[in-house]
Amino acid sequence: MSDQPRRGTRIAHIGIAARALDELMPLYRDVLGLSEVPLDDADGARIAGLAAGESLVELLEPADPHSPIGKFLEKRGPGIHHVCFYVDDLVETLERCRAAGVTLIDQQPRVGAEGKRIAFLHPKSTGGVLIELSEY
Ligand code: ZN
Repeated sequence: MSDQPRRGTRIAHIGIAARALDELMPLYRDVLGLSEVPLDDADGARIAGLAAGESLVELLEPADPHSPIGKFLEKRGPGIHHVCFYVDDLVETLERCRAAGVTLIDQQPRVGAEGKRIAFLHPKSTGGVLIELSEY
């Protein structure tokens, strides 16, 4: 551990499963006034980013029904899919999770929709919430 003060954890984004981006964009963009942030597609999902202060809302539409978002929609319907937290050191955080008995979906960091290294924790060991961790 370094002596530098930790920046602390904050919400990077909230992922929301949507049947169609076009159905939800008018609410978030035009009614609530969030501005669009271009994001790459990832994990078989088309993603629309919307800035809510320093955090993002990510609307996730399945590009493929067999993708994780496609399966989620079929099973649970539209709604909050995951919460992503920024962490200072992703590899170290994953090691702490492992040591604490948290089940990891991604054993190693991989590149997510914002081009940053990310990893998911399994909801069965997080109280039912799919948690994504991201580097700043
Ligand atoms: Zn995410």
